Amino acid sequence: MAHATDPCRRRGLTLAVADTELGKPYDERQDMLRQKWGFECTCDLCSMSQKRIDESDARRTKMATIRRDVLDIVRKGEFHRAIKVNKELLALAQEEELLDYLGDTYEILARLYNVVKDKANAEKYAKLALEDLRIFGGPDRYDSVQKWQDFL
Ligand SMILES: [Zn+2]
Repeated sequence: MAHATDPCRRRGLTLAVADTELGKPYDERQDMLRQKWGFECTCDLCSMSQKRIDESDARRTKMATIRRDVLDIVRKGEFHRAIKVNKELLALAQEEELLDYLGDTYEILARLYNVVKDKANAEKYAKLALEDLRIFGGPDRYDSVQKWQDFL
């Protein structure tokens, strides 16, 4: 995995689990780690106070909702709304340190801004996407780098 950022992983285990899987709310995350990896996670994130776990869960649930709904919003042609919710997703992912989400979201935002002819923002997010690919992308993402270089 490119980003070893989630506290569950920082705990010292090299888990071949995507952030998107660790990006689940507390109960689902614990279930997954217990069933798949056979341990009770006691990292900083998982051992926060109940209040902070609830806050984190709310953010993660919101992220899942946005990711579920965003395609529909785009299909309806509501591009400005799609931009708004993707920026919300970005902020939530940063707050939760779920960095696997960032690159994809930058790409989506670059495309959306391109669609609404906002060239400055399209370039801004394309550059961020490219930077993310350069830093974290593996060989499977080289063609994406080329694509975004051509775009810029
Ligand atoms: Zn954990």
